[in-house]
Amino acid sequence: MKIAIMGAMREEIEPILNTLGEYTSEEYAGNVFYRAEYAGHELVIAYSKIGKVFSAMTASVMLERYGAKVLLFSGVAGGISKDLKIGDLIMASKLCQHDVDITAFGHPDGFIPESSVMIGSDDDLRSLASEIAVDMGIDLYEGIIATGDQFVASSERKSWIGKTFHADALEMEGASVACVCHNFGVPFFVLRAISDTADGSADVDFDTFLQSSAQVSAKFILEMVKRLGD
Ligand code: SAH
Repeated sequence: MKIAIMGAMREEIEPILNTLGEYTSEEYAGNVFYRAEYAGHELVIAYSKIGKVFSAMTASVMLERYGAKVLLFSGVAGGISKDLKIGDLIMASKLCQHDVDITAFGHPDGFIPESSVMIGSDDDLRSLASEIAVDMGIDLYEGIIATGDQFVASSERKSWIGKTFHADALEMEGASVACVCHNFGVPFFVLRAISDTADGSADVDFDTFLQSSAQVSAKFILEMVKRLGD
Protein backbone atom coordinates (compact mmCIF):
# COMPACT_ATOMS: atom_id res chain seq x y z
CA MET A 1 0.00 0.00 0.00
CA LYS A 2 1.08 3.60 -0.58
CA ILE A 3 1.43 5.20 2.83
CA ALA A 4 2.16 8.86 3.60
CA ILE A 5 4.09 9.67 6.75
CA MET A 6 4.29 13.30 7.65
CA GLY A 7 5.60 15.54 10.39
CA ALA A 8 5.80 19.30 10.72
CA MET A 9 9.47 19.72 11.58
CA ARG A 10 12.65 18.07 10.35
CA GLU A 11 13.21 16.55 13.82
CA GLU A 12 9.89 14.70 13.52
CA ILE A 13 10.72 12.75 10.38
CA GLU A 14 14.50 12.40 10.77
CA PRO A 15 14.21 9.34 13.06
CA ILE A 16 12.07 7.68 10.37
CA LEU A 17 14.50 8.46 7.55
CA ASN A 18 17.42 7.30 9.71
CA THR A 19 15.72 3.96 10.37
CA LEU A 20 14.91 3.46 6.69
CA GLY A 21 18.48 4.26 5.64
CA GLU A 22 17.75 4.17 1.91
CA TYR A 23 15.38 6.58 0.21
CA THR A 24 15.11 8.90 -2.76
CA SER A 25 14.00 12.51 -2.62
CA GLU A 26 12.14 14.86 -4.91
CA GLU A 27 11.50 18.58 -4.63
CA TYR A 28 7.97 19.72 -5.31
CA ALA A 29 5.95 22.81 -4.37
CA GLY A 30 8.68 24.23 -2.17
CA ASN A 31 9.09 21.03 -0.20
CA VAL A 32 11.07 17.78 -0.25
CA PHE A 33 9.26 14.44 -0.52
CA TYR A 34 11.21 11.30 0.39
CA ARG A 35 10.28 7.93 -1.02
CA ALA A 36 11.21 4.51 0.28
CA GLU A 37 10.04 0.92 0.51
CA TYR A 38 9.47 -0.57 3.94
CA ALA A 39 7.71 -3.71 5.15
CA GLY A 40 6.23 -4.29 1.68
CA HIS A 41 4.79 -0.77 1.48
CA GLU A 42 5.63 2.24 -0.66
CA LEU A 43 6.23 5.22 1.59
CA VAL A 44 6.19 8.93 0.87
CA ILE A 45 7.59 10.95 3.76
CA ALA A 46 7.82 14.70 4.32
CA TYR A 47 7.83 17.40 6.94
CA SER A 48 5.56 20.24 5.99
CA LYS A 49 6.97 23.17 8.01
CA ILE A 50 4.99 24.48 10.94
CA GLY A 51 1.31 25.41 10.92
CA LYS A 52 -2.02 24.73 9.29
CA VAL A 53 -1.31 26.17 5.84
CA PHE A 54 1.92 24.29 5.15
CA SER A 55 0.61 21.06 6.63
CA ALA A 56 -2.58 21.18 4.55
CA MET A 57 -0.52 21.77 1.42
CA THR A 58 1.87 18.90 2.13
CA ALA A 59 -0.94 16.50 2.96
CA SER A 60 -2.73 17.42 -0.29
CA VAL A 61 0.42 16.79 -2.34
CA MET A 62 0.95 13.41 -0.65
CA LEU A 63 -2.56 12.32 -1.54
CA GLU A 64 -2.94 13.87 -4.99
CA ARG A 65 0.55 13.73 -6.50
CA TYR A 66 1.90 10.65 -4.72
CA GLY A 67 -1.38 8.73 -4.44
CA ALA A 68 -1.12 7.85 -0.74
CA LYS A 69 -4.03 5.67 0.40
CA VAL A 70 -3.47 6.26 4.09
CA LEU A 71 -1.77 9.10 6.00
CA LEU A 72 0.04 8.78 9.33
CA PHE A 73 1.15 11.94 11.15
CA SER A 74 4.00 11.75 13.65
CA GLY A 75 5.09 14.59 15.90
CA VAL A 76 5.08 16.36 19.24
CA ALA A 77 2.42 18.34 21.10
CA GLY A 78 1.72 20.36 24.19
CA GLY A 79 -0.20 18.42 26.82
CA ILE A 80 -3.43 19.79 28.30
CA SER A 81 -4.73 16.76 30.22
CA LYS A 82 -3.10 16.34 33.63
CA ASP A 83 -2.72 12.63 32.78
CA LEU A 84 -0.23 13.42 30.02
CA LYS A 85 3.42 13.72 30.98
CA ILE A 86 6.32 14.69 28.74
CA GLY A 87 7.18 11.73 26.49
CA ASP A 88 3.66 10.20 26.67
CA LEU A 89 1.91 9.27 23.44
CA ILE A 90 -1.55 10.47 22.47
CA MET A 91 -3.51 9.50 19.37
CA ALA A 92 -6.23 11.84 18.21
CA SER A 93 -9.78 10.52 18.35
CA LYS A 94 -11.01 13.82 16.88
CA LEU A 95 -9.36 17.09 15.96
CA CYS A 96 -10.50 20.71 15.88
CA GLN A 97 -9.15 24.16 15.01
CA HIS A 98 -9.03 26.16 18.26
CA ASP A 99 -8.17 29.44 16.51
CA VAL A 100 -11.15 29.54 14.14
CA ASP A 101 -13.44 32.27 15.45
CA ILE A 102 -16.54 33.48 13.63
CA THR A 103 -18.50 33.59 16.86
CA ALA A 104 -19.56 37.16 15.96
CA PHE A 105 -22.18 35.51 13.70
CA GLY A 106 -23.44 33.19 16.44
CA HIS A 107 -21.39 30.17 15.41
CA PRO A 108 -19.64 28.08 18.07
CA ASP A 109 -15.86 28.38 18.54
CA GLY A 110 -13.96 26.36 15.95
CA PHE A 111 -16.91 26.07 13.56
CA ILE A 112 -16.70 26.74 9.82
CA PRO A 113 -20.02 26.72 7.91
CA GLU A 114 -20.49 23.58 5.77
CA SER A 115 -17.87 21.81 7.88
CA SER A 116 -17.86 20.66 11.52
CA VAL A 117 -15.97 21.64 14.68
CA MET A 118 -14.51 18.13 15.05
CA ILE A 119 -13.13 15.73 12.45
CA GLY A 120 -12.75 12.11 13.58
CA SER A 121 -9.72 9.99 12.70
CA ASP A 122 -9.97 6.47 11.26
CA ASP A 123 -11.37 3.83 13.67
CA ASP A 124 -9.39 0.92 12.19
CA LEU A 125 -6.07 2.76 12.46
CA ARG A 126 -6.84 3.63 16.08
CA SER A 127 -7.70 0.00 16.87
CA LEU A 128 -4.46 -1.15 15.26
CA ALA A 129 -2.54 1.42 17.32
CA SER A 130 -4.20 0.23 20.53
CA GLU A 131 -3.18 -3.37 19.77
CA ILE A 132 0.39 -2.31 19.06
CA ALA A 133 0.57 -0.33 22.31
CA VAL A 134 -0.51 -3.42 24.27
CA ASP A 135 2.07 -5.56 22.46
CA MET A 136 4.80 -2.98 23.08
CA GLY A 137 3.73 -2.58 26.71
CA ILE A 138 3.32 1.18 26.47
CA ASP A 139 0.52 3.53 27.49
CA LEU A 140 -1.20 5.11 24.51
CA TYR A 141 -3.69 7.83 25.36
CA GLU A 142 -6.62 8.65 23.12
CA GLY A 143 -8.21 12.07 23.10
CA ILE A 144 -9.14 15.27 21.35
CA ILE A 145 -6.32 17.27 19.81
CA ALA A 146 -6.81 20.99 19.18
CA THR A 147 -4.82 22.69 16.44
CA GLY A 148 -4.08 26.37 15.84
CA ASP A 149 -1.47 28.66 14.34
CA GLN A 150 -0.05 29.53 17.74
CA PHE A 151 2.63 28.08 19.98
CA VAL A 152 0.70 27.98 23.25
CA ALA A 153 2.81 28.88 26.26
CA SER A 154 0.17 30.23 28.63
CA SER A 155 -1.91 28.51 31.30
CA GLU A 156 -4.91 30.74 30.47
CA ARG A 157 -4.96 29.93 26.75
CA LYS A 158 -4.29 26.27 27.42
CA SER A 159 -7.16 25.98 29.88
CA TRP A 160 -9.52 27.88 27.56
CA ILE A 161 -8.72 25.42 24.75
CA GLY A 162 -9.10 22.48 27.16
CA LYS A 163 -12.50 23.67 28.41
CA THR A 164 -13.94 24.88 25.10
CA PHE A 165 -13.06 21.79 23.04
CA HIS A 166 -12.55 19.15 25.79
CA ALA A 167 -9.10 18.85 24.25
CA ASP A 168 -6.34 16.75 25.81
CA ALA A 169 -3.42 18.07 23.75
CA LEU A 170 -2.70 20.91 21.35
CA GLU A 171 -0.41 21.46 18.41
CA MET A 172 -0.28 23.32 15.09
CA GLU A 173 -0.99 20.87 12.22
CA GLY A 174 -3.25 17.93 13.11
CA ALA A 175 -6.67 19.39 12.33
CA SER A 176 -5.60 20.84 8.99
CA VAL A 177 -4.22 17.47 7.90
CA ALA A 178 -7.43 15.85 9.17
CA CYS A 179 -9.48 18.30 7.12
CA VAL A 180 -7.56 17.45 3.94
CA CYS A 181 -7.74 13.67 4.46
CA HIS A 182 -11.42 13.77 5.42
CA ASN A 183 -12.33 15.72 2.29
CA PHE A 184 -10.30 13.41 0.04
CA GLY A 185 -11.80 10.34 1.76
CA VAL A 186 -8.39 9.02 2.85
CA PRO A 187 -8.04 7.34 6.28
CA PHE A 188 -5.65 9.16 8.61
CA PHE A 189 -4.06 8.84 12.02
CA VAL A 190 -2.47 11.58 14.13
CA LEU A 191 0.04 10.57 16.80
CA ARG A 192 1.83 13.02 19.09
CA ALA A 193 4.34 12.57 21.87
CA ILE A 194 4.16 15.28 24.53
CA SER A 195 7.07 17.75 24.40
CA ASP A 196 5.75 20.36 26.87
CA THR A 197 2.65 21.27 28.84
CA ALA A 198 1.71 24.44 26.91
CA ASP A 199 2.21 26.74 29.91
CA GLY A 200 4.82 29.25 31.04
CA SER A 201 7.75 26.84 30.63
CA ALA A 202 6.60 25.42 27.27
CA ASP A 203 9.34 27.03 25.18
CA VAL A 204 12.16 25.69 27.37
CA ASP A 205 10.58 22.22 27.69
CA PHE A 206 9.90 22.09 23.95
CA ASP A 207 13.57 22.72 23.12
CA THR A 208 14.67 20.15 25.70
CA PHE A 209 12.28 17.37 24.73
CA LEU A 210 11.59 17.87 21.00
CA GLN A 211 14.08 15.25 19.87
CA SER A 212 13.38 12.55 22.44
CA SER A 213 9.59 12.90 22.12
CA ALA A 214 9.73 13.00 18.30
CA GLN A 215 11.70 9.75 18.45
CA VAL A 216 9.04 8.04 20.59
CA SER A 217 6.32 8.99 18.12
CA ALA A 218 8.36 8.03 15.04
CA LYS A 219 9.19 4.59 16.44
CA PHE A 220 5.52 3.87 17.05
CA ILE A 221 4.51 5.04 13.56
CA LEU A 222 7.02 2.66 11.94
CA GLU A 223 5.58 -0.18 14.00
CA MET A 224 2.16 0.72 12.59
CA VAL A 225 3.53 0.62 9.04
CA LYS A 226 4.87 -2.91 9.70
CA ARG A 227 1.43 -4.05 10.84
CA LEU A 228 -0.67 -2.41 8.11
CA GLY A 229 -2.20 -4.80 5.55
CA ASP A 230 -2.06 -4.37 1.77
N1 SAH B 1 11.06 25.99 18.15
C1 SAH B 1 10.52 26.01 16.82
C2 SAH B 1 9.03 26.31 16.78
C3 SAH B 1 8.22 25.18 17.32
S1 SAH B 1 6.50 25.41 17.11
C4 SAH B 1 11.29 27.05 16.00
O1 SAH B 1 11.77 28.02 16.57
O2 SAH B 1 11.38 26.87 14.79
C5 SAH B 1 5.89 23.96 17.89
C6 SAH B 1 5.75 22.71 17.05
O3 SAH B 1 5.51 21.58 17.87
C7 SAH B 1 4.55 22.75 16.11
O4 SAH B 1 4.82 22.01 14.94
C8 SAH B 1 3.41 22.12 16.94
O5 SAH B 1 2.62 21.23 16.19
C9 SAH B 1 4.10 21.36 18.07
N2 SAH B 1 3.85 21.84 19.44
C10 SAH B 1 4.47 21.31 20.53
N3 SAH B 1 4.12 21.99 21.65
C11 SAH B 1 3.25 22.96 21.28
C12 SAH B 1 2.59 24.01 21.99
N4 SAH B 1 2.74 24.18 23.30
N5 SAH B 1 1.78 24.85 21.28
C13 SAH B 1 1.61 24.67 19.95
N6 SAH B 1 2.25 23.72 19.23
C14 SAH B 1 3.07 22.87 19.86
